[in-house]
Amino acid sequence: MSLIVQKFGGSSVADPECIRRVAKRVAESYDKGNDMVVVVSAMGDTTDHLIELAKELNDKAPEREMDMLLATGEQQTISLLAMTLNAMGYKAVSFTGWQAGIITEAVASKAKILSIDPKRVEDALAEKKIAIVAGFQGFTAGGDITTLGRGGSDTTAVALAAALNADYCEIFTDVDGVYTTDPRVEPQAHKIDRISYDEMLELATMGAGVLHPRCVEVGKDFGTRIHVRSSFNHNEGTIVDDMGGRPMEQQMAVSGVAFDRNVAKVSIFDVPDKPGTAAHIFDTLANEHVNVDMIIQAGQRKNRNKISFTVSADDLPKAKEIMEEMKWQFHAQETSYMDKIAKVSIVGAGMITNPGVAAKMFNILAENDINIEMIATSEIKVSCAIHEEDMVQAVRALHKGFGLSEEK
Ligand code: ASP
Ligand code: MG
Repeated sequence: MSLIVQKFGGSSVADPECIRRVAKRVAESYDKGNDMVVVVSAMGDTTDHLIELAKELNDKAPEREMDMLLATGEQQTISLLAMTLNAMGYKAVSFTGWQAGIITEAVASKAKILSIDPKRVEDALAEKKIAIVAGFQGFTAGGDITTLGRGGSDTTAVALAAALNADYCEIFTDVDGVYTTDPRVEPQAHKIDRISYDEMLELATMGAGVLHPRCVEVGKDFGTRIHVRSSFNHNEGTIVDDMGGRPMEQQMAVSGVAFDRNVAKVSIFDVPDKPGTAAHIFDTLANEHVNVDMIIQAGQRKNRNKISFTVSADDLPKAKEIMEEMKWQFHAQETSYMDKIAKVSIVGAGMITNPGVAAKMFNILAENDINIEMIATSEIKVSCAIHEEDMVQAVRALHKGFGLSEEK
């Protein structure tokens, strides 16, 4: 008997038929004698619809009110799933983020979880009830509703699994697991059976949409094993863990190719080449919660620098506002903004010990006549910002070039 947290995303609970399928799946695990906690997202495109609805009334709605609105999506699903299970003869009880004890920072729309006191969930389990918890939402110490950022239900699930000391967390989705790249872009992509937290974190952060990056971080920090699998079949999915059993030196150099179309590049020309310039720019962006990804600084002329960086395209309006202010403060000559940028990344634990991986990536892009706008590296990934129109070709060429298109 195990304590299992299962998470079902929006597409798995899109309509009554889907909810019934999810209920059956939960019941199946419960009938095997497991303690079950279930985290669900809003049904189908509910969150998008709520955002559109809000925009019709106020396109700059206060973030607090947006959180209040968006949290209702998940609240519909928890009650509907609990009702369905009850109709099937199971004792199921639903909890909002607050009732499940999920405390977050007081940052609207992308709050981080500070702590979880899952007392009511534990009490329900002790009574052999199935606990259903709303994903994506929490509460501040001051009592306001917050949301965790788009896709945040994954993070709710893994954080709850960690807080409950669950045996593992199953993330159910509409694909069979984590793929070497998105099969919609490269049909030769195949499912990865097992992957380390670090590689998964890079893949998720670099744009592999199947898992919310923050849930992988939580999994890593608390050693919570994550199983990503399909809600439409019983196939084994992808296990994300510390890869304890992997032979130390038999790692694939590249285990996946990730991409993100939703990138914008920002440049500011002619800022002073002196201590504190970059600190001031990036502090200001951070204070406004604009996440910066790749950064390049280059000398432009004597005592003046050019700084370029990438942000998510969604953050571009905010970044623009800040950078126009910086331009004025630093008497900079010019700013520029490009929103048709994509980022492609190769990820793999063996990369650091395999010289030439980055060079090979640049060569593959060059052979395909693809220009690189920016480069960033870490121990286990190399990312290139390129023009969005080149992205599909780049992903396919890299997937093939690094031997991922052949059957393992
Ligand atoms: N419903 C939220 C969203 O659509 C959270 C989630 O699905 O994980 O982003
Ligand atoms: Mg999701």
